[in-house]
Amino acid sequence: MKKKGPNFIEQIIDGDISRGFKKDDLRFRFPPEPNGYLHIGHLKAICLNFNLGEKYGAPVNLRFDDTNPEKEAKEYVDAIKNDILWLGYKWNKECYASDYFEQLYNWALVLIEKDLAYIDSQSSKDIANQKGTPTKEGKASPYRDRDKEESLKVFKEMYNGEHKQGDHVLRAKINMSSPNMLMRDPVIYRVMDSNHHRTGDRWKIYPMYDWTHGESDYIEQVSHSLCTLEFEPHRELYDWFLDSISPLEGIRPKQREFSRLNLSYTITSKRNLAKLVEEGVVDGWDDPRMPTISGLRNRGYTPESLKSFALTVGISKRENVIDVSLLEFCVRTHLNEEAPRAMAVLDPLKISIINYKENKEENVNFDINPQKPGQGKREVLFSKNIYIEREDFQENPEEGFFRLSLGEEVRLKNAYIIKAKNIIKNEKGQITEVECEYDEKSKSGTNTEESNRKVKATIHWVSAETAVEATINIYDRLFKVAEPGKSQDLLSEVNENSLEIKSAKVEPYLASAKDGDHFQFQRLGYFVRTNNKKTLEFNKTVGLRDGWKK
Ligand code: ATP
Ligand code: MG
Repeated sequence: MKKKGPNFIEQIIDGDISRGFKKDDLRFRFPPEPNGYLHIGHLKAICLNFNLGEKYGAPVNLRFDDTNPEKEAKEYVDAIKNDILWLGYKWNKECYASDYFEQLYNWALVLIEKDLAYIDSQSSKDIANQKGTPTKEGKASPYRDRDKEESLKVFKEMYNGEHKQGDHVLRAKINMSSPNMLMRDPVIYRVMDSNHHRTGDRWKIYPMYDWTHGESDYIEQVSHSLCTLEFEPHRELYDWFLDSISPLEGIRPKQREFSRLNLSYTITSKRNLAKLVEEGVVDGWDDPRMPTISGLRNRGYTPESLKSFALTVGISKRENVIDVSLLEFCVRTHLNEEAPRAMAVLDPLKISIINYKENKEENVNFDINPQKPGQGKREVLFSKNIYIEREDFQENPEEGFFRLSLGEEVRLKNAYIIKAKNIIKNEKGQITEVECEYDEKSKSGTNTEESNRKVKATIHWVSAETAVEATINIYDRLFKVAEPGKSQDLLSEVNENSLEIKSAKVEPYLASAKDGDHFQFQRLGYFVRTNNKKTLEFNKTVGLRDGWKK
């Protein structure tokens, strides 16, 4: 990975340390809401926090902000944990906001007693109508000056499940004319008749996200609470909450904001991703076309490539859209180093070499990975019948076509030069086979005059005698537009042709590939053996930037 100078968050932390903040008191957290799978946007926040933990030797908590039982589920908790571990990060403590519900409830009682919160018994619609606009101040609720004893009584009744959803809410009493809309007496508790994935039906009231989030950071003694830019106006509110429950002990979390990751042709909003899953546009959250961590993993992305992407993107306060080709570049770079090579023919055309002896068998040698010569060679059977890509032969070659055509020569990678002699077609006129002649003296690496002869193209092939069948999934972008999710109708922006399934012929050694094994299929790109499939199946991760480099 590239070395970079400290990002602006690291500069803030270094500044704090130089002013006397104790390094031992540094503590970070990654705080997902378990209402969906982690996506590439979360990757940025994960890498930021866990890399800070590594850099400063500080603990990093994984905290689930599980305040909305209607949207949250254990499935998401498990998927989130799995993804973070797969990326290679380890959290210090596994925390849940729901573990703090009792403490939050007690602090809410303190707010009421200090006359800093009140029960509002209006409908949510009336409350919304009184909020005002950023330029017009809000109107006080008729319940704002309610006697605090009465608020306490109703709040306890809510806690005991004596009120229905929507009858009452608890609001912080702050400032209905604040220019910051979030400060206009935000709701901090509502009644909810819902089963929570951890606390079951223990709670009848649930704290709002804003009330929970800042307090949870304080409970965990998070020193630097890092979030995305849209939370900047929330900072004032979190500060108000902390002041209101003071005196505080220990560390007061310091919130700092950085810009979200936006990626072209990609959505990074759980709401929209959930829609794709619900509408059946994709096969679940971990579909290889999804920009989720699990989707990218199934697509063949590696933890190293995702981390190097996050590092390259960096951390700033500037909103921008990163080109998805940078992500592709990162995985291509990593797999170029790591992936063993193999030959696969996605769209097979049979070639019979008429002057090659029947039953003759010989092996040709290939590097397992030219980037890692130490890994040695693999032997590949060459035989009379082979397959090449259908597109590597043209009956009527267009201008500039230098691969195989009648009377023309091409080199079979690491093997012989062949010349096309005759086309065989079926009754529908489709080409079923091309008969060729090979030049016996042209074998690669033999250093004969014939083997050194220049031909314009080299193509890949597999022996028909030993090739095995494989299903190959080729993915295109999930969206047709560069910035999906901006229009009203997300589904109309979906690329209908984002998956093409091929029946390929591949080298026999690929049959023993294990789930998650990566390969470079020569001339085609990078592929990964897919998970949990009984058949031999590969997903295309990304193409090669260009063809073969000789
Ligand atoms: P979404 O908009 O997809 O629902 P969210 O912010 O509501 O995302 P959370 O589970 O609350 O999802 O996010 C957990 C953490 O990940 C937060 O700290 C949030 O700031 C960060 N995060 C979410 N999306 C991005 C993104 N696109 N870029 C950087 N950080 C992100
Ligand atoms: Mg959120």
